[in-house]
Amino acid sequence: MDFRHLKEKDPQIFSAIKKEILRQENTLELIASENAASLAILEAQSSPLTNKYAEGYPKSRWYGGCRFVDEAEDLARQRVKSLFSSEYANVQPHSGTQANMAVMFSVLEAGDTILAMDLACGGHLSHGHPLNFSGKFYKVITYGVDRETELIDYGEVEELAKRFKPKLIIAGASAYPRIIDFSRFREIADKVGAFLLVDMAHFAGLVAAGLYPNPCAYAEFVTATTHKTLRGPRGGFILAKKEFSKAIDSALFPGIQGGPLMHIIAAKAVCFKEAQTGEFKRYQKRVLENCKTFCEEFKNLGLRVVSGGTDSHLLLLDLRKIGISGKKASLVLEDIGITVNKNLIPHDPKPPSLSSGIRIGTPVITTRGMGEEEVKQISQIIYKALTSFDNQQILNRLKEEVGELVKRFPLYPDIEI
Ligand SMILES: *Cc1c(COP(=O)(O)O)cnc(C)c1O
Repeated sequence: MDFRHLKEKDPQIFSAIKKEILRQENTLELIASENAASLAILEAQSSPLTNKYAEGYPKSRWYGGCRFVDEAEDLARQRVKSLFSSEYANVQPHSGTQANMAVMFSVLEAGDTILAMDLACGGHLSHGHPLNFSGKFYKVITYGVDRETELIDYGEVEELAKRFKPKLIIAGASAYPRIIDFSRFREIADKVGAFLLVDMAHFAGLVAAGLYPNPCAYAEFVTATTHKTLRGPRGGFILAKKEFSKAIDSALFPGIQGGPLMHIIAAKAVCFKEAQTGEFKRYQKRVLENCKTFCEEFKNLGLRVVSGGTDSHLLLLDLRKIGISGKKASLVLEDIGITVNKNLIPHDPKPPSLSSGIRIGTPVITTRGMGEEEVKQISQIIYKALTSFDNQQILNRLKEEVGELVKRFPLYPDIEI
C-alpha cells in the first residue's frame, strides 16, 4: 500500500496522514476502544465502492447498477449472521451510536422509558446521556454497580425495572471489565415485559471467538461496532430476531440514514471473514491473557484494579493510591508515547474531567504481537512514569524504552510513506 497519488495531489492532507501513521506506529496504544485493521480491510475501505449510491437493501434498491455492491452486502450479512448465530443482520449503520438509534426508533415512541447503565459506572453516551438523542427523546432510568464488588447490581436492576416498567432495557458498556450476565437480564426483562438490547460494541471480538457469552441467544436486539475488538473498519451493525427485521431496516433507512457506505460494508465483510479464522480466535485469546497479565502486574505493584480484575480486553486502574488524577496520568503517559484514556472509577469522588482512574485495553498491542513479557515491561513503565511524573530524567528514559519496544513490533510494515 502506498500514497503516490495523494502525495502529489494534496501534500497537506498527505502530510497529516503520514504523521498520523507514524504516530500510530511509534505509540504504545492502550485505548481499549481502538484496534488496527488489516491491510485487506484498508484496501476494501479505500476502493471505488465509495462511489456507489445504493439506498435500500440488496435486491431492493432505489438506484440501478447495484448488482455487485449487493454481492458485497449479502456476503457481509451472511457472514455476520453465521459468526454470531443470528437470525437477522443489518450491516449499514455508520456507527455504533446509529445502530443503537435504529433499534430505539424501531420499537420506542418518544417519551418511553429505557433502563440503562449509568455512564459514571461504565455505560455509553448513546444509552441515555442527557446531551445525546437517547437522553432527549426518552425517559432514562440508570442502574449502576455495587459499591463493594463493583459488579452490576442485578438486584437493583430488577427493582428499578419493576418500579419504572421500562419498555427497553440496555445491557452493555464501554468501561465494564467483567462478563455481563445476559440470562439474568433476560429474566428481568421478561418479568416486566421489556425488550432487551445488548450493546456489545466493545466485546464483539471476544464473543466472535467464543471467549465471552453470545448475547444473541438472550436479547431481541444486539448492536455492535466493527472497529473495536472485532478489528474491522469503523462502523456498526445490528443483529436481531427475525420478527424485527422490517422495523429495523426501515428505522435505519430511510429513518435515520441515507445511502449506505458500500466501501465500508465491503470492508465489514472482510472483517467478518477474518473473525471466522482460527488465527483470530488465537488473537482474542492473547488479548484476554494480556489483559489479565496487566491486572496481575498492577496488583503486584500495589495498585487497585476495579472489580479486582477483568474477564475482557480492558481494565480500570484506580490511581488514588499514587495520588494522581486520571487526567494527569493520561497526559504524563502521552508524553512518553503511551496513550490511554482517563476514566471514572465507580462512585468516583472526582468529576469526569479529572477522574480517579485510567482505562487500559490490550487489542492494539496484541495485534502488534506483544505478549506476556512486553505486558510486564509496559506495566513497570506505566508505574514508574506515574510515580515519578515530576522527574523529567526518568520520564525521558522511559520514553526511550517505549520507543525501542514499539520498533520491535511494527504495526504496518507494508505501508509505504
Ligand atoms: C463505542 C461504543 C458505542 C458506539 O460507538 P460509535 O463511536 O458511535 O461508533 C456504542 N456503545 C458502546 C457501549 C460503546 O462502547
